[in-house]
This record gives sequence, structure tokens and C-alpha cells, in this order.
Amino acid sequence: MPEKIRVVVNEDRCYLCGGCAGVCPALAIEVHASGWEFFQDRCIGCRICINACPVGALSAEPLGVKE
Ligand code: SF4
Ligand code: SF4
Repeated sequence: MPEKIRVVVNEDRCYLCGGCAGVCPALAIEVHASGWEFFQDRCIGCRICINACPVGALSAEPLGVKE
């Protein structure tokens, strides 16, 4: 079972190219002119977006069972 993660963006690096949204198989990322958006309930934790970002703006935080 893939680890549950929260994908976070470094807004100083992200230039809103939309590449991560384009490769996400779960449509868990949307990129608009106004900004980058992540939908936790859709994410399956595959990390494809993190590897796809050309400027390394994305990273994953584990979603622990304890908060
Ligand atoms: S980890 Fe996978 S499912 Fe989650 S936002 Fe990235 S590409 Fe989409
Ligand atoms: S691929 Fe990287 S630079 Fe492009 S929108 Fe996604 S986070 Fe931003």
C-alpha cells in the first residue's frame, strides 16, 4: 500500500507550468494562473508529480497516523 503523503509546493520555485498537474493520474493537482492547488482526498501517493517537476518545487510530507 502506498504511503499517504501530502504534496507541498515551494512557491518561490514553482512557475505554474502545469507539468505536475498534467502527469498526476489522480487529478490531485490543479494549476491555475492564480496558483497551485493540491487535493489530498484524490492523491494516491505515487510521487510522479515530484519527479516530474522540472525545478524541484514539489516535496512530500508523510501523513502520519498521529497528528
Ligand atoms: S503523488 Fe501522485 S497522485 Fe499524488 S499529487 Fe502527485 S502525481 Fe498526483
Ligand atoms: S511542475 Fe513544478 S513548476 Fe510546474 S506547476 Fe508543478 S510544481 Fe510548479
